[in-house]
Amino acid sequence: MRNQFRNGIVDRERNKTHYMKVLYCVSEVAPIFKLGGLGDVAGSLPKALAGLGVDIRIALPFFSSIDRKRYAVSQKPVDSFRFPYGENHGYESVSLYQTKIPGSHVPVLLFANARYLSQYVSQREYGTTIDTIARFSFFSEAIVFWLLGHKQTSQWFPDIIHLNDWHVSLVAAVPSIPKTLLTIHNLSYQGIDANNSNKKNQPNLLRLGLKSATLVNTVSKTYAKDIQTKEFGENLEGILKQRKKDLTGILNGIDYSVWNPMRDQYLNQELRITNYELRQKKYDRFKTVNKYYLQKSLALPTIADIPVFAFIGRIEPQQKGIDILIHALENLLPKTNFQMVILGTGEPIWEDRLHKISHLKSTRKKFVFADRFDEALAHRIYAGADFILIPSKFEPCGLVQMIAMRYAAIPIVRATGGLADTVKDKKTGLTFKDYSAKELEAAVARALWLYFSGKKFERMRQKGVEEDFSWEKSAKEYVKLYWKIMRL
Ligand code: ADP
Repeated sequence: MRNQFRNGIVDRERNKTHYMKVLYCVSEVAPIFKLGGLGDVAGSLPKALAGLGVDIRIALPFFSSIDRKRYAVSQKPVDSFRFPYGENHGYESVSLYQTKIPGSHVPVLLFANARYLSQYVSQREYGTTIDTIARFSFFSEAIVFWLLGHKQTSQWFPDIIHLNDWHVSLVAAVPSIPKTLLTIHNLSYQGIDANNSNKKNQPNLLRLGLKSATLVNTVSKTYAKDIQTKEFGENLEGILKQRKKDLTGILNGIDYSVWNPMRDQYLNQELRITNYELRQKKYDRFKTVNKYYLQKSLALPTIADIPVFAFIGRIEPQQKGIDILIHALENLLPKTNFQMVILGTGEPIWEDRLHKISHLKSTRKKFVFADRFDEALAHRIYAGADFILIPSKFEPCGLVQMIAMRYAAIPIVRATGGLADTVKDKKTGLTFKDYSAKELEAAVARALWLYFSGKKFERMRQKGVEEDFSWEKSAKEYVKLYWKIMRL
């Protein structure tokens, strides 16, 4: 507590120290439960905010796949309540268990309910289905009932509720709750049933949240502008334009304690970069041993001077660009000398196409598709690959390119959203503009040329490593936004 006091946020205008209390509501928190970048953000931003003196607690569903032992979840509930829910005037009960983000003091409250909140959500069902909508509508209502109960008993009560994406945006629409910040991590998921063709007349959870949240932000400045246009607005550009004055962009950071090539828990001592190597800007040994180890573990030929490219992410064309990637690979792999590793899961038809490519004679010793979610392999790929491909159609922020740079892998990205804000063409990575396999192929050709250029390649790697993607700056911007909300 005393430590928090020392780090307390001084509201200079009022000239007093105040500990704002924030409830951070989200559907995933790394490493406790992670599907993608949202999990990374929720597992790191709150730690940075706590470091700045914010009294922050996280609300997360208690999915059955969460490892109780590993994450030291409380044996018994720390709270429980019942509330009217569903048809026939029924009641549902919720028990709250507690843990912390590993390596921090940030409390994570796990909302347990067997009917709605235990079922595991996977990367393969990332899109919205009627099931996930029911799950998260329930979670949102449970948060509200829990909060209202707290108000009456004057226990810990937040000044601000920080909502993330459609899953919890419904909370903002309840009039009696505190002020809210709604962060859009990805506008293309809105809490409408993707399988129902009658999209117009369906309730849209994100729209409800956008209308009512006190302030709204998204995860890069470019994406904050993009989403006010028809091209990227996903039919919500109207409401976003209306709320233009309340909408800002704050770039995500990455957790430097997790994504740290000097202390990476998934890399053995010999595979980590040393302090000396980092200071001397010598990445060769680090990259070479990791490339060897990666190739060996994936049964690729262990050749030191062949460029290794990789893709890590959801296997779908709507955002991640898997269609143009597949086209480019079909063209390039048979005739060009490089290796390619893909790690990801997603839509079965696109996974099948990748499996087919991996079974071709012409690609056998060059291409690996790991169709799973594998945190350890992801770390080893960042460390061992020379280039990471991110051919996204759109990208609100994107973390893969930042992690890649930290591990001296050069990102090759389409210049959109957060990718455009974080990768400097020809300096820290390679960028291309048009969304087409041709452009991507041309970027790969530039990468191959760069790889064999020696000095230029090394300089680009070094510039990438030197970039600062820690949360320090962005967390302060969130605190400013919280203060703005408090004053409204
Ligand atoms: P998004 O949130 O849109 O999926 P981001 O670039 O913001 O994309 O973040 C993706 C995060 O998820 C990164 O930490 C990446 O390493 C991780 N990731 C994605 N797919 C996998 C996978 N199959 N196995 C392990 N990690 C993955």
